[in-house]
Amino acid sequence: MQRYAVIIAGPSGVGKTTVADALIERLGNLEMSRSATTRAKRGDGRDDEYIYLTVDEFKSAIAAGDMAEHAEYGGNLYGTRKSELARIHKEGKQPILVLEYNGVKSLKESLDYPVLAFYVYESLDAIEARLRLRDAGKEEAIARRCAENAKDYSIMSTLADRFDAFVENRDLDTCIETISSMIPAILSGNNPTSASERMEIALRLEGDAAKH
Ligand code: 5GP
Repeated sequence: MQRYAVIIAGPSGVGKTTVADALIERLGNLEMSRSATTRAKRGDGRDDEYIYLTVDEFKSAIAAGDMAEHAEYGGNLYGTRKSELARIHKEGKQPILVLEYNGVKSLKESLDYPVLAFYVYESLDAIEARLRLRDAGKEEAIARRCAENAKDYSIMSTLADRFDAFVENRDLDTCIETISSMIPAILSGNNPTSASERMEIALRLEGDAAKH
């Protein structure tokens, strides 16, 4: 079996997890990779999305070369363990990861098999409208996320080469259909999108950020 990994990256509120879950359901050969973290459980019903480690355990994993990538957010460590990816491959499946763009480059560099990175996007206005539906009433959090998204979009042309494709998520079914058909194409060396097409979209996203 050819091993590979799929990354779904994109701005906050664009629907990365929904896209990943729909791909898992549709393709049948993907399994969500769980990140390791040193943060405390929140008891919010989503605690099983992570593998919880102590700071010492996390540092030992880094020293042992088991962290394919890691980063610190809000004083806590987060990372992707090679052993988690290997467990999924051993089960005959391919890992799918939901990541911010930061982890994409290091992940591609530290794994010795193809890592297909999809940047899922939508207009900043459409994402804001979605966040307002999802997190109604949490004005501060919505404003923070929107500002972060605009910041991510504003440097997109410098990040464009990290991604194998940019896929719009205006309509979930179309987005899933597009990614599903791109996975085998990219694996066989026939990426249907060119670097200049990807750069064109990245520049469009920068233009969107400039309007905000
Ligand atoms: P939270 O504590 O709210 O679940 O996540 C905080 C941040 O950590 C989010 O921005 C999330 O995307 C990021 N994060 C979660 N898992 C990983 C990971 O495996 N690697 C990296 N680099 N960041 C992660």
